[in-house]
Amino acid sequence: MTSSDLHDFWEIGVKRTREAPCSKALTPSRLPGLDLTLNPYRGCAHGCIYCYAPSLLHLSAKEWSDPLPKRGFIRLLERELPHIKGVIGVGTSTDPYQPMEADLCLTRRALELISKNGLRFCIHTKSDLVTRDIDLIGPNEVGVTVTSLDEVVSRVIEPGAPPPSRRLDALLLLNDAGIHTFVMVGPALSCIEGREEELVGAIAATGTEVLMVDTLRLRPNTGSELADAGVRAAGQATMRRLKLFAKEMGLDYRTAF
Ligand code: SF4
Repeated sequence: MTSSDLHDFWEIGVKRTREAPCSKALTPSRLPGLDLTLNPYRGCAHGCIYCYAPSLLHLSAKEWSDPLPKRGFIRLLERELPHIKGVIGVGTSTDPYQPMEADLCLTRRALELISKNGLRFCIHTKSDLVTRDIDLIGPNEVGVTVTSLDEVVSRVIEPGAPPPSRRLDALLLLNDAGIHTFVMVGPALSCIEGREEELVGAIAATGTEVLMVDTLRLRPNTGSELADAGVRAAGQATMRRLKLFAKEMGLDYRTAF
């Protein structure tokens, strides 16, 4: 029995879940430093009010908020991996550590297969579930998004995601394990104005050495929710302060994309 047979057995025999259609596990990437992208799930439970993924993927907000594992994903990946080379971005259109990943282990199995094929990957997540896979990550890279240190604000703007304190704890564990990490402050929002030093300090304290900042990219339907939550794009002064404090604290400051 192959590993994909085992996975099918698990899915069919133990817990049958609804699935999203899938014809390819890997797709070419237009993101810097990544050759291919891999997203084992469609949709996202984190519910970020600034999320523009559904509009890019032509899905309704309702469809996006109901994440599904992709059908036959591991079997497809097993077939595709021997024919590719380059770095694989894991979690480029949605978070690869959806709550259901704790049971389904699709992302974990994908990481195992990528490593088995001698390829490198870069994970991007908001979830501390990534620390479950420390044993597989090794020389690869993990980016964790932190948009605010304020747990109350976080519950409003990212209601389904683990709170910032758990993301920072995850970064500590990853860094302690010698994994190369970066933090994405993205999008940079007005809720960090006046707290830039505190935010950069908390990130630096985890041992992360790279701070990446992204600006707010508004798509249809994302603006009104932000306005209702009293949040807008961070101003230029905040962006300058983030850069200044990053430099002062020895972090490598980068702008995303
Ligand atoms: S984690 Fe990413 S994909 Fe998920 S809702 Fe937030 S912005 Fe969208």
